[in-house]
Amino acid sequence: MSNGILQQKINAGLQDHPAWIGRHTTIDHLRPGIVRTVQAHPELSPALQQIKETAIANLDQLLPQAIAAMEQRGFQVYLAEDNQAAAEYIANLVGDGLVVKSKTNTGKEIAVTSRLQQQGATVYETDLGDRLAQLEGKGKSAHTLAPACHLARVECAQLLAQDLQETLSDDPELLVGAARRALRAVFLQAEVGISGANAIAADTGAVFLTENEGNIRCVTSMPSIHIVIAGIEKIVPHFADGLTVVRSASTYGCGQDIGTYVSIIDGVSHFSHPAMDFLQSGQGPQAVHVILLKQGRQQAIDAGCQSVLYCLNCGSCLNTCPVYSAIGDQFGYKYLGGRGTVFTAFHTNQSEKLEEAGLSLCIGCQRCIDTCPLHMPVPQMILQLREEKARTEGNGWMKDTVFSLLGANALKPLTKIGRQVQGIALKQQQQDAHLRFNLEKLGIAGMPQERLLPTLSSQSLPERLRNKAPLKHPRQRVALFAGCMVNYAYPQLGVDCYDILMANQVQMLTIAQEACCGLPAIMSGDTAAARTMAQKNIQALSAEDYDYLIFLCPSCATTVKEQWETLLADCGDQQLLEQYQAIQRKVIDFSDYLVHVLQIQPPLLKDSCTVTWHDPCHLIRGLHISQEPRQLLQQLGLTLQEMKSPDSCCGFGGSFSLFHYDVSRSVNDEKIAQIADTNAQYAVTGCPGCLMHLKDGLHRNHSQQQAVHLVSLLAAAYRQGGGDQ
Ligand code: SF4
Ligand code: SF4
Repeated sequence: MSNGILQQKINAGLQDHPAWIGRHTTIDHLRPGIVRTVQAHPELSPALQQIKETAIANLDQLLPQAIAAMEQRGFQVYLAEDNQAAAEYIANLVGDGLVVKSKTNTGKEIAVTSRLQQQGATVYETDLGDRLAQLEGKGKSAHTLAPACHLARVECAQLLAQDLQETLSDDPELLVGAARRALRAVFLQAEVGISGANAIAADTGAVFLTENEGNIRCVTSMPSIHIVIAGIEKIVPHFADGLTVVRSASTYGCGQDIGTYVSIIDGVSHFSHPAMDFLQSGQGPQAVHVILLKQGRQQAIDAGCQSVLYCLNCGSCLNTCPVYSAIGDQFGYKYLGGRGTVFTAFHTNQSEKLEEAGLSLCIGCQRCIDTCPLHMPVPQMILQLREEKARTEGNGWMKDTVFSLLGANALKPLTKIGRQVQGIALKQQQQDAHLRFNLEKLGIAGMPQERLLPTLSSQSLPERLRNKAPLKHPRQRVALFAGCMVNYAYPQLGVDCYDILMANQVQMLTIAQEACCGLPAIMSGDTAAARTMAQKNIQALSAEDYDYLIFLCPSCATTVKEQWETLLADCGDQQLLEQYQAIQRKVIDFSDYLVHVLQIQPPLLKDSCTVTWHDPCHLIRGLHISQEPRQLLQQLGLTLQEMKSPDSCCGFGGSFSLFHYDVSRSVNDEKIAQIADTNAQYAVTGCPGCLMHLKDGLHRNHSQQQAVHLVSLLAAAYRQGGGDQ
């Protein structure tokens, strides 16, 4: 069962605390330098994007051009259709000799090491991290750039000491020195060197490689045979493009302007001569074989996921991915993280492998898009793959039932039933509750006993506001798209919003027929159910007259603003599309509305205190709102103490926190630790989903700090200041 394997991987990732420490230490060390260097070179990302887009769009022409150019320079080129063909070709070249191998992701893809070892060859990893991982014997890298980051110093020392039969302390310089001495001897004896390629220039046939250790230089120049393994996506049009690629790999991978070594290989050695064979290790290779791998690349292009081929393997996306942060190298397959998961779909063409890689694990926080030099739309590609999977295999009875009920607008009666049973299932604790029973044991995902949940409201938001008198002369009319969380879990947030707007002479409407925005269905790949929800909402929203459509939930806002457009793109209903476009133009987050449209001057809160702001993923990366809430907090007279990464995900992710509560909780714990470090009294946010998850995290961690939605603080200030009640 693939889900069983995925759960085993998750458990292994979550339980490996030493690896968690190593991973976080590495990322904390790498990230500041990367951020600084990326900021210093804003020209790199657009240049690289243009190179990669051009290269993949013209691959049909560039591939034969590159092969011809390389052959002209004396390379022997083999175009491998698939992994097996590539591995067999290399196996025939190598026999049972001694091979030195440098970092090559394509080599890992075709499992070249195990193939060569099967036939008696000795394969020696020369990258120090890869060598340590090889000595450990698990056959895995923990991070693209730092393969052994999961190992503590003392473990590295033990592994090397055992290998070299020496007594070694865990002093890093001594360890590096010992590893280097051993490696030199191997380089002198090796017959074959295997490397990857950062780029191959189609116009000249030059192969580009960058590194910091200097071992790639030795791998490619000391043995008499050099084998390059590269996916066909490494081909770029021009020589200068190769230089941009290696610079970008260093900038985004390690935070360096350029790698310590850049090797440009343009053919067999011009200096080698049989009479000088006694100097073989130093004459350069007498034969260079280039294996260009096609496996799955065309399928990725055909599926519209060509951008997955732009990847540099810089690993920058891993450094900000909350799921990688929680479970490390268990997220992904041959390649790590979200991008690695997407590539699995085309690399293996096996649905169960895709599931095991972590198709359901991406939270959709979009952080990887920001950090990738190519702004690779990983979460969108993940959604596309989930849609394909849902279409062909279904989503399971639980999701199918929930989405069809949401599509039938049955949330209101369902909530009423839920309220009847919550007295039995939930233990009330102020306005929140935790479970009396572990519902997970009854097969209900994401409901362990310790989870803090909001109690379902006895009245939906429209019911609560039903008897409020309307303004006689409002300066504006806005509609609130409450969303399920505000409507049924936190309706007081809607009341708070109403009070703030009334105090500013704005009439707020609620939409009685509002349905779920559809995001949970979209995240699960059920676009048909999501489309039905969008259509119902468009009908309901089009029946009212208002100037703006405001949101207290940025996830609903981005769904209405962006996802509905995709859902309706091919609907063929012109009237519906026009109605939608009119709605789309009015979408605005409430903080954006208060700051830029109303330009409010809220009263000071009577009791000032220190707060910290959590940027909800869909607010900062979906709607690009980050300064407005901070401005409002300062206008309230509060002291804002920023946490370490205010924009890192809280781990909620809607239904993600139901189906992967263990990962969600781990991500949340990191956020709670950041909040604790600020010593702020309140963690303030602008999303009811984040609010619920932060409350749960603070409760689990026995924190005295409290989570609150920004709208509640603003409403409290207006109430204290005598605003409209
Ligand atoms: S969207 Fe977020 S969770 Fe998904 S791969 Fe990117 S960073 Fe990771
Ligand atoms: S997806 Fe982007 S950030 Fe991640 S490894 Fe590839 S190029 Fe680097």
